[in-house]
Order: sequence, then C-alpha cells, then structure tokens
Amino acid sequence: MNMQGTKLADYGFNTLSVHAGAAPDPTTGARATPIYQTTSYVFDDVDHAASLFGLQQFGNIYTRIGNPTQAVLEERVAALEGGTAALAAASGHGAQLLCFHSLMQPGDEFIASRQLYGGSVNQFGQAFKNFGWNVKWADGRDPESFRRLVHAKTKAIFIESIANPGGVVIDIEAISAVAREAGIPLIVDNTLATPYLVRPIEWGADIVLHSMTKFLGGHGNSIGGMIVDAGTFDWSRTKKYPMLSEPCPSYHGIKMHETFGDMAFAITCRVLGLRDLGPAISPFNAYLLLTGIETLPLRMQKHCENARAVAQHLSRHPKVSWVSYANLPNDPCYGLAQTYCPKGAGAVFTFGVRGGYEAGVKLVNSVKLFSHLANVGDTRSLIIHPASTTHRQLTDDQKTHAGAGPDVVRVSIGIEDVADIISDLDQGLAA
Ligand SMILES: *Cc1c(COP(=O)(O)O)cnc(C)c1O
Repeated sequence: MNMQGTKLADYGFNTLSVHAGAAPDPTTGARATPIYQTTSYVFDDVDHAASLFGLQQFGNIYTRIGNPTQAVLEERVAALEGGTAALAAASGHGAQLLCFHSLMQPGDEFIASRQLYGGSVNQFGQAFKNFGWNVKWADGRDPESFRRLVHAKTKAIFIESIANPGGVVIDIEAISAVAREAGIPLIVDNTLATPYLVRPIEWGADIVLHSMTKFLGGHGNSIGGMIVDAGTFDWSRTKKYPMLSEPCPSYHGIKMHETFGDMAFAITCRVLGLRDLGPAISPFNAYLLLTGIETLPLRMQKHCENARAVAQHLSRHPKVSWVSYANLPNDPCYGLAQTYCPKGAGAVFTFGVRGGYEAGVKLVNSVKLFSHLANVGDTRSLIIHPASTTHRQLTDDQKTHAGAGPDVVRVSIGIEDVADIISDLDQGLAA
C-alpha cells in the first residue's frame, strides 16, 4: 500500500494493523519491513549532517535515537491509537521513564492509580524517588480520589485502561475530566486493552503508553515499549513543563512545543529523553513486534472469546470462591466494560482459589498446558500466583490494594482451543 496521498484515518483498524507506516523498501522492493540492523547512517554532506543534528530536518543519525524499522512500528501504533506521533523504547518501563523525564523536575509529583502492574508500582514508588519524582496513590475506581490529591506540584495523572492484575476497567473519561480541570496531562497505560479494545485518546488521554511485550507483540518473544502522543495537550499554556515550553540549551535554544506543535511530546521524549538516557529498542525486536501487530485484531478476538468462556466456567467452579472479570454480568466493572470495551474486557483476569496461599501455589504447580511465568499477552495461556511472585516485594497493604491477596491467581488466556484450557484448569484445581 502506498500511504502517500491517502489519509490514514480513511482506513479501518484491520487494514491499519497490517499496513500503517509501511511501504515497499525503496531500494529493493522488499514487501515486509526490513530489519535495518545498523548503528548509523551516512550523511549526504556536512550541511545535511548539520541540519539533522540541529533538528531542522528529520532523518536517521544513530540507532539509539531512531531506526527505520522502529519508525514503521512507531507510525503503526500511532495510527492504531489515533495519535499524532509515537516513540518506541526498549521496554514498557523504558517508555515510562522517557515519558516522565519529559514532564518532571526534581520535587514534582504525579498521581497514579493504585490498580497498576506490580513493576510500575516499584518503578514509581522506588526508582523514581531517586530522581526526586514523587508519586501519590489514588483509587482507580474513584475519580474523586485523584481530584483530592491535585496541587501546584502535580504534573500528570497515570492510570491503566484495563488494570493489572484483576482486569479492572477504569473510568478514563471521568479521570480525564479531573486532569483537564487541573491543567495536567492524563497518561493511560493501554497495555492490557490494546487499541483494538480501548482507544484512550477518544476518552481524553493526552499520552498513551504500551508495554508492547504483551498483547501488541503478542507472541511472548520480544520486550518493547511505546509512547503515543495524542497531540492534545497545550504545553505552552504554563511554565509547568519547561522541557517542552522553554528554550532548549542542547538544541541552540529552540522551544519544543513552539517548533513541533502537536508532535512535541513524542519528539521531546526522543531527542532529549532517548538521546540522553538511552533505552533504545533493537531493530530486530521492532521487526518482531511489527509482525505481531499485523494479527492484533484476530488475536484479540480469540483472546477475549476464550477468556469469557473460561471466566464463566470458573465462576461456577466449586473450588473457586470468586472471579474478577469485567465481562461477567455481576462484576462491579461490568457497566464500565460495556462503555469502554464493548468488544471484550481483555484476556487477563484474576480469581480466588478456596484454600488461600497454599491452594494458589498448588494450582500453578499442577497445570500442564498453562505456563507458570511472569508475563501476560502471549498466544499461550499463562498463569501466576502474584502473592508469591510478581507482587512479592509489595507490603501486605499494597498487595491487597493491587488485587494480589494470598488466594489470588492471575491468568492470561491464550488462543488455544478453549476446551483444552478449561480441562487443564479443572485438573489443576482437582489436584
Ligand atoms: C509489563 C507491563 C509493563 C512494563 O513493561 P515491560 O515491557 O515489561 O518493561 C507496564 N505496564 C503494564 C500494564 C504491563 O503489563
């Protein structure tokens, strides 16, 4: 597909998943996007080099800052999310680091939902403290709890759309109203939903983040992260975001927002964050993730269909005390799921095993088809007992708030035959 002269917005989601950002290679005609496995790129001449380094012209300099395989991936995810631009990083956590680096000064704060991936709870609460970036925790199920924490030093609000580990659906629109009123951007981690199920920008998100490691890549073979710029936030309205609004000393005094407009956030994360902090994605990972995204809609349909059947089965199982899956009609998130993700509430959910911690450990030790590991969003069905693994470092209070109590088992339902998935859980629960 030659995307030139055709507006991306004219194509449907399935078409964009296969084509957005990609064109046949201009020198070889290669139809699949090549892996540009190179560190650096030859300049035409000294003037060309100078204009690339000075940001007067976009182009390839060095793969820490950008790479042609990565660029296709960025354009594709930006198109799927409906953003203006995007930046890929080495991991989801790398993307989070670059995102906050563009927003925060030492002593600043941001507000995050307590319903988060355990690794993000650690990154925000521990590692970010060393930069002087302070997190305040709100309850993702209660938008007012965010409003109460806003003050002059608050620079952003961070939530997950469908939240780890319990598959809780968050009221993005209500929380985006709090952010708008406070004059700060809303950042939405859309990892578990993917843009196939939820497009946070349509509900008021200013920045969308991904761990592409999970459903976007979808095959459990590559780590990667993405920052998508919605292009909606006015960075120059105040002096709260100096990296975006004030003259930049390392680019002869240009102002990022004034110069790059609705792509300023993604560009700042690249030319100041990625350039100086360095978590670049490898071209090979970018290629694998790009290949995975081609089948995103097909995989998500199957993931959701299987997850719904497994959740229904478990909700009637005598060894299971509760199931937290937003597509079950009596789930507290059912209403929000109908609004935000009518195609399905994803494939990651939790349930409680009768018998607590011991029973949870026994189940993960007994399954055969399921893999016991710390990941989600693989084609394969995955299982973990968060209290003994991913959430082990958290305090008991943090564990409970994060939905990782002693009896909790988290599954990520794969795209195998659903009868095989169910019979493996049944034999494991019988053990
Ligand atoms: C895995 C994950 C991350 C971190 O991503 P990595 O690619 O592992 O660094 C962040 N947020 C969510 C929701 C995740 O599931």
